[in-house]
Amino acid sequence: MSAVRGNVKLRADTLVEEVKDMESSFILVVDDEEIMRSFLQDVLAGEGYQVDVAPTGEEAVNKASRKKYDLVITDIKMPGIDGMGVLSQVKELSPTTEVVVMTGYASLESAVESMKKGAADYITKPFNIDQIRIVVAKTLERRKLKQKAEDEEFYKHLSRTDGLTDLYNQRFFHQLLESEISRAKRFRQSLCLLMLDIDNFKVYNDTNGHPAGDQALKQLAWILNKSVRSCDMVARYGGEEFVVIAPQTDLEGGKILATRLNRLVKEAKFDKEEVLPQGRLTVSIGVASFPDQASDKRDLIEKSDQALYRAKAGGRDKVCIYGEKDEEG
Ligand code: GH3
Ligand code: MG
Ligand code: MG
Repeated sequence: MSAVRGNVKLRADTLVEEVKDMESSFILVVDDEEIMRSFLQDVLAGEGYQVDVAPTGEEAVNKASRKKYDLVITDIKMPGIDGMGVLSQVKELSPTTEVVVMTGYASLESAVESMKKGAADYITKPFNIDQIRIVVAKTLERRKLKQKAEDEEFYKHLSRTDGLTDLYNQRFFHQLLESEISRAKRFRQSLCLLMLDIDNFKVYNDTNGHPAGDQALKQLAWILNKSVRSCDMVARYGGEEFVVIAPQTDLEGGKILATRLNRLVKEAKFDKEEVLPQGRLTVSIGVASFPDQASDKRDLIEKSDQALYRAKAGGRDKVCIYGEKDEEG
């Protein structure tokens, strides 16, 4: 193993240890009775949690504003800011912090009320150690699962979208097209693929600068996305190339859609578009349909690309249908 790779491994190992350490949850115990605070602190520290205590609601809110707790366990009845106040203020400071309230048997209604307001669970006094351990462990476990699901959702979105335009990226487009073709086959429907490319974008970019180019790409993405039906899918295929999958659409429908998109882009005002040869930012579009013109995904992409090439060769700012001689712009 090279020195560099050895170092990387060492760093990774340290990181794993750090993450393991970080897994110990932070808990804040809030109670105006000293005996309750130290009892809970002992029990929870014995379970391996990192425990802080606060004797008042005010101090609890103060602590929660300076440190992120996984769980706050608060007494309901306290002078000053009470348990309900702690619950609402902690949730406001950190929505992902769980709150468990403590209450006497006599005032169960307030515990139920606090759950309606977002508490994760409640513990009744006098305490039963096992009840505390179970409620705390379950609450933290649920929290972890919730966060894992949110993380997965976040990374899924990230892996499917293009960072600049927020449209689907090329990788996910291939997945989408594959499944749309299967669906079309099964239900004996047709679908159209539109391939769009900005005309003379190099000129726009070179004259106005890359950031302006990025802005134009974002604006174009927005126009395309808002101008198609909700079941149509728009993706960024590459630099200044975009694709639209139009399910349940025959060639005639695809042509109408492409012509509309071509017109909408032409009519839209893009910043500093006058530097372009035609004075405005335009797109060329190639259209092909499944199953009439193409037998599978690759074939469909190739044929819409060939149609796009003809639109470019024919003078740009045009819609070309695969296999059709005449085109319009
Ligand atoms: P054509 O009409 O034949 O499509 O000409 P074109 O200039 O649009 O095509 P070409 O492929 O020569 O150049 C594409 C240009 O698009 C190159 C680059 O300046 C620009 N471009 C590609 N990706 C990005 C991007 O992510 N951001 C910016 N700002 N520009 C990009
Ligand atoms: Mg181009
Ligand atoms: Mg190009």
